[in-house]
Amino acid sequence: MTAAPAIGVLALQGDVREHVAALTGVGAHVRPVRRPEELDAVDGLVIPGGESTTISKLADIFEMREPIDKRIAAGMPVYGSCAGMIMLATEVLDGRPDQRGFAGIEMTVRRNAFGRQVDSFEAPVRLAGVEGEPFHAVFIRAPWVERVGVGVDVLGEVTEGPAAGRVVAVRQGNLLATSFHPELTGDLRLHRYFVDLVRAA
Ligand code: GLN
Repeated sequence: MTAAPAIGVLALQGDVREHVAALTGVGAHVRPVRRPEELDAVDGLVIPGGESTTISKLADIFEMREPIDKRIAAGMPVYGSCAGMIMLATEVLDGRPDQRGFAGIEMTVRRNAFGRQVDSFEAPVRLAGVEGEPFHAVFIRAPWVERVGVGVDVLGEVTEGPAAGRVVAVRQGNLLATSFHPELTGDLRLHRYFVDLVRAA
């Protein structure tokens, strides 16, 4: 593959611009993806933070569900942050009954999990496979991971505060998900990790 892989950002709803900026910052060719033809043209996909119930609805309206499921089955790398993590989970607790994710990571996530005590907060998170300081992780009405299946690697947990020990980053093969939003902090390490994953795929 070329030195700069083409990476799409699913642009149905959410913080698309921030992911485009972060991916551009690590040298990817980035394009918004709203239609099946646009998905065909990318090597990897980012599902942004936003509102998973809305992304789910729009995925049906834009007829993106089946094309994305097929690409995932064929091994396309996908990174989901926050709502994107929910969209990559095979099971969602506290979801809306009509919301549906893509055929993604074998895990159970709880939507708005931190919500009752703290809607939004920041905490240090160290990620396996990423060098340097812990991430300054920003959580906004975020999910956490309650169960992972065989073959799913836990990459990171909250290390301090009331949410300590909660799993907030996972990987299964070419699928990567975080509860937090690295696209909001200018820390490009996770986007670099994802671009390397796409390059290797
Ligand atoms: N609570 C949102 C959802 O259920 C996710 C929030 C976010 O992406 N920042 O989709």
